[in-house]
Amino acid sequence: MSAGGAGRENLAWVDGRFVPVREAALPMTSAGARYGLNVFEGICGYAAQGGTQLLVFRLREHARRLLDSARLMQLDVDWPVEAVEAAVLETLRRNEVRGDCQIRLTIFVTGDGNATTRGPCSLVSIATPRRARPFATRGLTAAVSSWRRISDEVMPPRVKAGANYLNGRYGQLEAMGNGHDEAIFLTPGGKVAEAGSSCLFIVRDGRLATPPATAAILESITRDTVIRLARHAEMPVEAREIDRTELYLAEEAFLCGSHYEITPVTRIDGFRLGDGSPGPHTADLWTLYEAALRGDGNRLPTEAAGWLTPVHG
Ligand code: PMP
Repeated sequence: MSAGGAGRENLAWVDGRFVPVREAALPMTSAGARYGLNVFEGICGYAAQGGTQLLVFRLREHARRLLDSARLMQLDVDWPVEAVEAAVLETLRRNEVRGDCQIRLTIFVTGDGNATTRGPCSLVSIATPRRARPFATRGLTAAVSSWRRISDEVMPPRVKAGANYLNGRYGQLEAMGNGHDEAIFLTPGGKVAEAGSSCLFIVRDGRLATPPATAAILESITRDTVIRLARHAEMPVEAREIDRTELYLAEEAFLCGSHYEITPVTRIDGFRLGDGSPGPHTADLWTLYEAALRGDGNRLPTEAAGWLTPVHG
């Protein structure tokens, strides 16, 4: 489906050329296909100005993280961050996207080879309409996974590589098989890390806490946004180690991510958090976050103005 409206052919941006999405393919013999050698970003765009404008949220940070992931994977890429940003903006302009959307931005290793192949690489940008978030208002249930999170000594979670998501898959399928919506992973040392494709915050005694960047997490852009919004709103927030049993005692918890935005968690391993419905801190942060996405709040920190990139001139 096109992000730009019914009937339009959705065009992928591939190394500066536009190709119908269904024709954009990775060679079967490429290292990208055979070993899952890719790094990617999921970026969100939000309709603004009555549907005439589109704002991309924290584009610079996503483009930087993509290049950081490529650098840690030692991929052969030397694009400046501006070129990566331009790929996203050109995709949205060419497809005339004006509604809420997500952009999948990926660097694939397209060259044949093995797990050490560094290139050649392709940059691909594809926009699709925003997927529904069924848990956004009522919240979801989570279970601590029996699978541990990958770690910096094994397979760095800081790198947003497609292959890292196999770890998330094991935990997520286990959680769903046991009747929960989401898995929460612990670090190899037994502290709380993150969920399969989002980061986690809890509220204890009215204070927000989230695992630190060294607790086997992706350095989430939404997590950073939430910390900045909370600080500005004078809500106490700390990045610190979190024990498993603190999850059960939390008054509130939520998952956050570009796609998840802020998604309440109402039960963990069967323990009801608070009164079992999304709590007031979560609701407050959601209000602030939504204002930041649309650029229409007066409770935002000054840096929030720089988080939005307008697409249409
Ligand atoms: N952790 C993981 C494993 C993720 O896949 C994501 C989604 N990209 C996040 C956290 C949230 O990251 P961000 O806020 O940058 O989207």
